Amino acid sequence: MATGGSRDTHTATSSTGPVTVTAGPVTTTTTTTVTVTSSAGFGGASGRNRTALALDIGGTKLAGGVVDATGAVLGRARRAMPKTLDPEVTFAAAVECLHSALGDAGLGGRYDYAGLAGLGVGCGGPMIWPAGEVSPLNIPSWRDFPLRARLRDEFGGLGVLVHNDAVALAAGEHWMGTGRNTRNLLAVTVSTGVGGGLVLDGRLYHGRSGNAGHVGHLVVDPAGPDCACGGVGCLEAIASGPRTVAWAIEEGWKPVEAGPGTGRPGPDDGGTRPNEAGTGFGDSGPDTSGASAARGDGGGPDEERAPDGRALAASAAAGDKIARAALARSGNAVGIALASCAATFDLDLVTVAGGFSQSGPIFWDALRAAYDRHTGMEFARAVPVEPSSAPNDVALRGAAAFVLVPDCYAWAG
Ligand SMILES: [Zn+2]
Repeated sequence: MATGGSRDTHTATSSTGPVTVTAGPVTTTTTTTVTVTSSAGFGGASGRNRTALALDIGGTKLAGGVVDATGAVLGRARRAMPKTLDPEVTFAAAVECLHSALGDAGLGGRYDYAGLAGLGVGCGGPMIWPAGEVSPLNIPSWRDFPLRARLRDEFGGLGVLVHNDAVALAAGEHWMGTGRNTRNLLAVTVSTGVGGGLVLDGRLYHGRSGNAGHVGHLVVDPAGPDCACGGVGCLEAIASGPRTVAWAIEEGWKPVEAGPGTGRPGPDDGGTRPNEAGTGFGDSGPDTSGASAARGDGGGPDEERAPDGRALAASAAAGDKIARAALARSGNAVGIALASCAATFDLDLVTVAGGFSQSGPIFWDALRAAYDRHTGMEFARAVPVEPSSAPNDVALRGAAAFVLVPDCYAWAG
């Protein structure tokens, strides 16, 4: 690990930011230079010139990358998640994926890991944070698995930071994605679960247990359905892909085979598939249960696999009335939740990732209508809600940002 205590300067500007404040106590148009002493020991004095290893772990795939300080992905590898209950098999696949990414970047063989800024990891929850002991719902082989410690040992004592994959997505959005040039960002993913991450005043905001930004469990309908988390009427219980599909089936929707190219556009980036943490329906998607293992979230209905949200979106695009109503119902719930977030956090921007966010105007029209209806204060109403830049390796870059840009995205622990 690099020696801590170095000083890095990060300049962020919101002078071109989208917020227009016409009411309320504060109006800001600022260009702010923030100098922060690096507390986590990542990046170091030459951090700007170094590269990082990054790992994005989902229920069905592993994505490894070598990312430089400009956000360029110098090498990458992608592997299917092994179907196993052996934690060591899963871990070996993750290690192999990282070595392949190093090889792809021309750094294979006897590479000196000290030349790297560190290893950043985004992984589905729940997990103990910041210890990085993970129990991802969709990776049954890992229960209380000491991922951070094992990776640190495996890569010669390299600094490793592990956080929720939805938080990695938020960091990536802020660093290099749709949310760049903002200081206050909420990045939300609506997929198999509903998750999110927060950047406040230009820094990733973690909260006490690492669960800040976990919007999936905002209550949007007190009379709504039970949630897998144990609560009632949570956003995730209404708007997630599986819950939306379940609602449609209850209403009489008959799933049909989704043909290729329907309902889920996803531009490739350098030959890779879209980032599943941001766009998928069938993967673990964003974290569905938060960073704290004490939450005790179960899988429940959110673990359903087929038919998936992709089929529903295709059916809606083909004009099926129930499918259209289902997508609109999801968008409506998301819009309600985001209205509360905009009022709470005084944001510059909200981004929305996940399969439905790419399904077209049915979801978005309902989202925007609900958002407008529930944002009475002008400062909240004015906050733009935009699709995520998720297809472009955002979660992988965000994981790298944990260690490459410690001023903004790292944490102590
Ligand atoms: Zn819940």
